[in-house]
Amino acid sequence: MTMSGNDTLFQEALGHFPGGVSSPVRAFRAVGGTPKFFRKAWGCRFTDEDGRSFIDLCMSWGPLILGHAHPDILAAVDASMREGLTFGAPSRRELELARRIKAMVPFIEKMRFVSSGTEAVMSALRAARGFTRRDRVVKFDGCYHGHADAMLVKAGSGLVTFGTPSSAGVPAAVGELTSVLPLDDFEALERFFVEQGSELACAIIEPIPANNGLLVQKPEFLKRLRELCSTYGALLIFDEVISGFRIAPGGAAEHYGIAPDLVTYGKIIGGGMPVGCYGGRKDVMGVVAPDGPVYQAGTLSGNPVAMAAGLATLERLTPELYRQLDATAAAWAAAFEKIPGLRCPRMGSLLWPLYQDGVRRSDAVLGESISKFNLLHRTLLEHGIYLPPSGYEVAFISAAHDDAALAEFKQVVEKI
Ligand code: PMP
Repeated sequence: MTMSGNDTLFQEALGHFPGGVSSPVRAFRAVGGTPKFFRKAWGCRFTDEDGRSFIDLCMSWGPLILGHAHPDILAAVDASMREGLTFGAPSRRELELARRIKAMVPFIEKMRFVSSGTEAVMSALRAARGFTRRDRVVKFDGCYHGHADAMLVKAGSGLVTFGTPSSAGVPAAVGELTSVLPLDDFEALERFFVEQGSELACAIIEPIPANNGLLVQKPEFLKRLRELCSTYGALLIFDEVISGFRIAPGGAAEHYGIAPDLVTYGKIIGGGMPVGCYGGRKDVMGVVAPDGPVYQAGTLSGNPVAMAAGLATLERLTPELYRQLDATAAAWAAAFEKIPGLRCPRMGSLLWPLYQDGVRRSDAVLGESISKFNLLHRTLLEHGIYLPPSGYEVAFISAAHDDAALAEFKQVVEKI
């Protein structure tokens, strides 16, 4: 008889995949222990391969704003699936999703569907470079934009303004075309644009940085970035793979009242299926093939089943749902703050449980706070609460996080 516990599966997985996983953070290296193998998930809960059930605060890293296995989304996927899994040709479902996106995000004039957030970013960068005929891009330390070569770059040392690869396998020559600035540093921003603004194709930023904890920026920082891009003829790309459709119907762009030239989406836009999207100004999108000279394509792009899942999700994002999510997330954040020494900054339904306050930059996160988080992660897991397995990740609240789950969490907090 074969055992089907997490440990047994993980042992086998180690023989199949690097680190035993299909994406690195899932390996639990940061927090220690064996990753949970999900067997079945519903609402805000899942059971693992040991048959234990957990309240999920990771929610597949963001797509599941309505919760796991939402019946309406499953029904939409089922109906679409029965008409064919992929066509490699246009289908009406792409138009339905595009219409809905435009209704929610007014500054999007044209868009293109892809299959992941990484692909959306990579394609948006290429379009920006093609449109401006410039090569340099700038990103911000503490933002993550997927694993395209140009984005796996960290700040160079000393006074050099270009970056160096943060991953082996990325050529130094690629890194040199990406500059990296600190978040929340107005002076560095001004200086950079004076020195390099006229060479810049685009600036890319997570307007609500949520990949190094939750590094909420002052609105003036984003506004100044918008102005500087316009002044120097560089495009502004908002990477809203996490914040899109989560913070508001129009994402962070709506929240801050700033229209970027291009925006990238992933996660929620596919409702749990692999979808990404980039879009924005129609003159910029006009450079994309076949209208223009910037090549970008995909066998499964605009996949009908994925479009159906995305549409079913976006259709349920009503003002009432955002109000409910906000109230639920506020209650969870308050419950987290009952844990001695823990703070829980929040933006809408994104939470960052951290043993520190007021962090706006990646270099302000203390190692000590992360070590304490790792302990907390273990303790909560033992009590059936599943947080993302790293202190640098945010927790996601969904519309399926109900009163029962919150009450259970509060009881755990009292016990630990
Ligand atoms: N941009 C941001 C802001 C993200 O959070 C992520 C993924 N966490 C990506 C891009 C990459 O998306 P994907 O993992 O779908 O490639």
